[in-house]
Amino acid sequence: MKISEIFNTSDRAIFSFEMFPPKKTSPIESVYGKLEEICALKPDFISVTYGAGGTGAHSRTCEIASKIKNEFGVESVAHLTCVNSTKVEIDSTLADFKAHNIENILALRGDYVDGVEPKKDFIYASELCEYIKEHSEHSDFDLGGACYPEVHLEAKDEVEDILNLRKKVEAGAEHLISQLFFDNSVFYRFLERAKIAGINVPIEAGIMPVTNKSQIERMVSMCGASLPSKFVKIMQKYDSKPEALRDAGIAYAVEQIVDLLANGVDGIHLYTMNNPYVARKISEAVVSLL
Ligand code: FAD
Repeated sequence: MKISEIFNTSDRAIFSFEMFPPKKTSPIESVYGKLEEICALKPDFISVTYGAGGTGAHSRTCEIASKIKNEFGVESVAHLTCVNSTKVEIDSTLADFKAHNIENILALRGDYVDGVEPKKDFIYASELCEYIKEHSEHSDFDLGGACYPEVHLEAKDEVEDILNLRKKVEAGAEHLISQLFFDNSVFYRFLERAKIAGINVPIEAGIMPVTNKSQIERMVSMCGASLPSKFVKIMQKYDSKPEALRDAGIAYAVEQIVDLLANGVDGIHLYTMNNPYVARKISEAVVSLL
């Protein structure tokens, strides 16, 4: 089923998950147990990330997204980055996705990778959306895109970023998933900017339950998410108590989600970090509120 159809036919907020394939050095089977447990929670869909390196990166994404859909019966979305791929490589990846019955793509630019020369066929995610929609062999893929409540790190300012986001929607992105954030007011301001810019597609709020210290440091350096003092206090207090930190991280995410749902968001996209325990605890806490 296409994700835009899920949004169109649902009378409640959508609840989706994100998972990532294991590193190339680990066997793909190492994620199967977690996959089964996470799929058993029956989210509306699960999206599967795509390695940043371009060529060859798609096969694990394809395999996991296919398993989620074809074995476990949960709709899946394959992430696809374009900055390190040629058009021919994108054609072949999309053909592979189609052969595995995958109907939904999260169309991304991807990050530049040290030591990898970008291929230059695609500069922005909107160009990937345009390319897919303009080629009849690909055009029936349903497309989603990424968005940044705290502004993409490379953008000049929030006005430029929101106008660029509108280009991505005009190019075919039918729904958006946000970068993680810890301060809901940042997301509400972003929704206002999107509305003013005429962006009318559903926007899911990306929620990352923080369950260990190194995860916080990595996330903040990678995406620049601001940390409200309430959040920092919790993290400092339970810094050296892993179980308490995990439980506090889950409680914080649940509180964020309850507030977002009460404010009528289109959907919640939970970055599960492949952790079935965390995904289950949060699902159980919010499922009756959707
Ligand atoms: P774009 O939408 O192309 O935007 C990138 C920058 O270019 C922005 O600053 C934007 O303002 C600017 N821009 C866009 N269009 C134009 C234009 N026409 N003219 C001038 N400037 C423009 N990375 C991975 O490698 N694999 C993944 O699986 C993955 N999944 C993600 C999932 C989500 C929900 C999110 C939020 C991010 C994900 N990323 C992933 C990270 C993403 O690849 C990076 O954030 C990347 O830097 C930007 O990708 P994008 O698709 O948002 O780019």
